Amino acid sequence: MIKRALLSTYKKDKVVDFAQTLQELGIEIISTGGTAKKLQENGIKVTPVEEITNFPEILNGRVKTLNPFIHGGILARRENIQDMETLQNLKIKPIDLVYVNLYPFVEVANKPDVDLNELIEFIDIGGPTMIRSAAKNYKDVIVVVDESDLEHISAKLKNREEFDEKYRLYLASKAFNLTAFYDSCISNYLNAQLKDKDDFQEFLTVPFEKSREMRYGENPHQSAIFYKNTLSVGAMTSFDQLNGKELSFNNLRDADSAWEAVNEFEDIACCCLKHSSPCGIALGDSVLEAYKKAYSCDPVSIFGGIVAFNRKIDVDTALELKKLFLEIIMAPEYDEEALDILQKKKNLRILKMNSKPIDTYEYVSVDGGILVQEVDKGVINEFKVVTETKVSEEIKEELVFAWKAVKHVKSNAIVVSKNRAITGIGPGQPNRIWAATQALERSKDKGGDVLASDAFFPFSDVVEKAAEYGIKAIIQPGGSIRDDESIQACNKYGIAMVFTEMRHFKH
Ligand code: 5GP
Repeated sequence: MIKRALLSTYKKDKVVDFAQTLQELGIEIISTGGTAKKLQENGIKVTPVEEITNFPEILNGRVKTLNPFIHGGILARRENIQDMETLQNLKIKPIDLVYVNLYPFVEVANKPDVDLNELIEFIDIGGPTMIRSAAKNYKDVIVVVDESDLEHISAKLKNREEFDEKYRLYLASKAFNLTAFYDSCISNYLNAQLKDKDDFQEFLTVPFEKSREMRYGENPHQSAIFYKNTLSVGAMTSFDQLNGKELSFNNLRDADSAWEAVNEFEDIACCCLKHSSPCGIALGDSVLEAYKKAYSCDPVSIFGGIVAFNRKIDVDTALELKKLFLEIIMAPEYDEEALDILQKKKNLRILKMNSKPIDTYEYVSVDGGILVQEVDKGVINEFKVVTETKVSEEIKEELVFAWKAVKHVKSNAIVVSKNRAITGIGPGQPNRIWAATQALERSKDKGGDVLASDAFFPFSDVVEKAAEYGIKAIIQPGGSIRDDESIQACNKYGIAMVFTEMRHFKH
């Protein structure tokens, strides 16, 4: 039987209606400063907390409900004679329902240029404490933290129905989920403020929030949900969709990969991508040129794929893109007329990207846990020519381009490139010579000057193969115990080879 309720809400849009219901049922309402005021303004009779605690709200509201008259009233076990005697002796009245929503820490933290001292005042202390007390004593106290539960609770109260154990457990689990989430957001935010990360690296919290249910997962028989990292406004949560159906699970993953790839480059870049792997990457003097070069790498695979750009899409490019069946087009901007042209294709998903990739960490699930790692932001810090043949400026630029591109191809990855365009790709092979053979064979009709490999050559066979196809220079991490064999082979064929001393596996 609910006799007394405590309402303390930051968002006050639902509290008046709920209090009205409680009042009609003769339930006494206790409330904190702002909430009490709002209720009184709406003609509801309220007992202010100060009257219960016999203590004023102090420190600008930092201490309002942190008091034994409140927490004793919530935590006492109603069937425990000693607990109830204690309440009686100390004149503490039981509180049977608690409805709280918290200071909006996350919303404020996500505002631009937020001041840490101001933000700290949005760390709710008394609210989570009441929620935890009420959830701990769920057998006797109804704890409400989600406004979507108010309707059901009001209906039950009006019908004088009991709340069964299962429903109480549901409310309690939801309550602890909220406080755990709330604190992990605070922890993550404060951790991100640490300047000297190296000292604190092992400590990371993951405050994800359900964003939406997907139609299905990788396959139609798999269900899937998109969880959003609340403290990141990363690219895949901040785009505007200007056309087409909702994005699927595979769409989001592939779009993410394509966007990462074009943002690898400062120059005008285009990436064509299918099944998480690029089927063309190119730079150009114009967006159209970059697209034509990327497209020509593999005009077959791009059917039904994604095309991403790191620059505004113009009319000429839109007219070319229109000829193709694509799932997604991505760019930071669209010329108005170009957008009109593309929007004629009803199902084409058109994304206006509002953020570059910004995350510092990425997560991979394994059965029983998740692996967390830093995002691969490695750039070439070594450019060590290890062969007798040296590298011209022109070839150096080509090698750097190919090296940046191969990073975005699934391992084992080999790419062949010419004139700042990938001409052959060998993605996702379990052995390196297959990757090399595939990339070289695919580049045959367009030719290729350089070859890039995401990891070292275990044998000289890749160099032998590259020589057959007239490759002039190779870039790879180096570091195999048989490096010498590959270097000797390069010297034999007059191929230049560069070691980067950094590998780029992508699985
Ligand atoms: P009101 O607007 O009613 O003055 O305050 C409502 C908010 O205060 C709610 O978000 C609630 O979680 C929070 N709150 C309640 N008690 C305390 C307390 O003792 N300390 C702090 N910092 N916040 C509290």
